Amino acid sequence: SIMPATLSAISNSAKSGILFKGGVHIENLSHVKAIAFDKTGTLTNGKPIVTDTYFHHDYDENKILQIVGAIERESTHPLAQSITKYSNENKGITHEFDVLEMKTVSGNGVTAVINNEKWEIGKPDFVGRKAAANFHNGISEALTAQGKTVVFAKMNEEILAVFALKDTIRKDAKKAITMLRKHGIHTIMLTGDNELTAKSLAREAGIDHYIADCLPEEKVKHVKDLRKDYGNVAMVGDGINDAPALASANVGIAMGEGTDVALETADVVLMKNDLSKLFNAINLSSRMNKVVK
Ligand code: ADP
Ligand code: MG
Repeated sequence: SIMPATLSAISNSAKSGILFKGGVHIENLSHVKAIAFDKTGTLTNGKPIVTDTYFHHDYDENKILQIVGAIERESTHPLAQSITKYSNENKGITHEFDVLEMKTVSGNGVTAVINNEKWEIGKPDFVGRKAAANFHNGISEALTAQGKTVVFAKMNEEILAVFALKDTIRKDAKKAITMLRKHGIHTIMLTGDNELTAKSLAREAGIDHYIADCLPEEKVKHVKDLRKDYGNVAMVGDGINDAPALASANVGIAMGEGTDVALETADVVLMKNDLSKLFNAINLSSRMNKVVK
């Protein structure tokens, strides 16, 4: 049975924006020695802005933009939503497209068929690392060096466009990381994004360690490795992609505005997306544990 002290801790923390889905998670959180964070939507606001676009000279820019916008409209990924918004705001003559065979390749991008042509939209490795690196005389390297995420659009065997997007760090992220580190908790960022973008964000957030180019199943592996090294490990995330990693941590923590799958899988929810609540939650769980014991 749940002890009255546990119930009151759950209800008090809920009032301050931390939802524990049970007393056992309060106990587990008090023992956490390392916390892994997803990047996009967790450490960042997850609302990237399209800053640069480059198109293949032999094709109609407008048409590419609208096709990519039409495909990305079918995806829930934050990058996809931003690209669709950009496409809507910048299209000239309006074309209509039927998006067929839309598929999501988790941690990579999407594929679809339009007018019998096969489209692939996603990260460099997804469309072919070498072709991506050569597109527009290697512009993608310069873009990623600026901390931007690059998304390529490929039709059949040819790359037709690259989009650079810039996300912003959450205002509470740096403070939250600083507090955790002061408390002796190791912090790690796990991201599907590229090395340079990951590095620049990790530095900005003051995070101890980062792992880039991380597929969803690799996030699970890293969480398991962390458990071997640190014992009790929490994972914080927001995406469908993060759900398996949340489930494999001792404590899975979801951002309140995260996807349904993340919210359902998590043990703890930060209701206002406020990372500084993370430290409060750990503090509360430590005090709580002393009361119960
Ligand atoms: P993160 O761990 O940072 O949240 P994801 O694992 O969700 O990143 O995605 C990894 C990479 O895959 C993105 O940086 C992007 O390049 C690519 N990607 C994933 N989904 C899409 C999509 N719908 N449209 C374009 N690119 C995508
Ligand atoms: Mg995310």
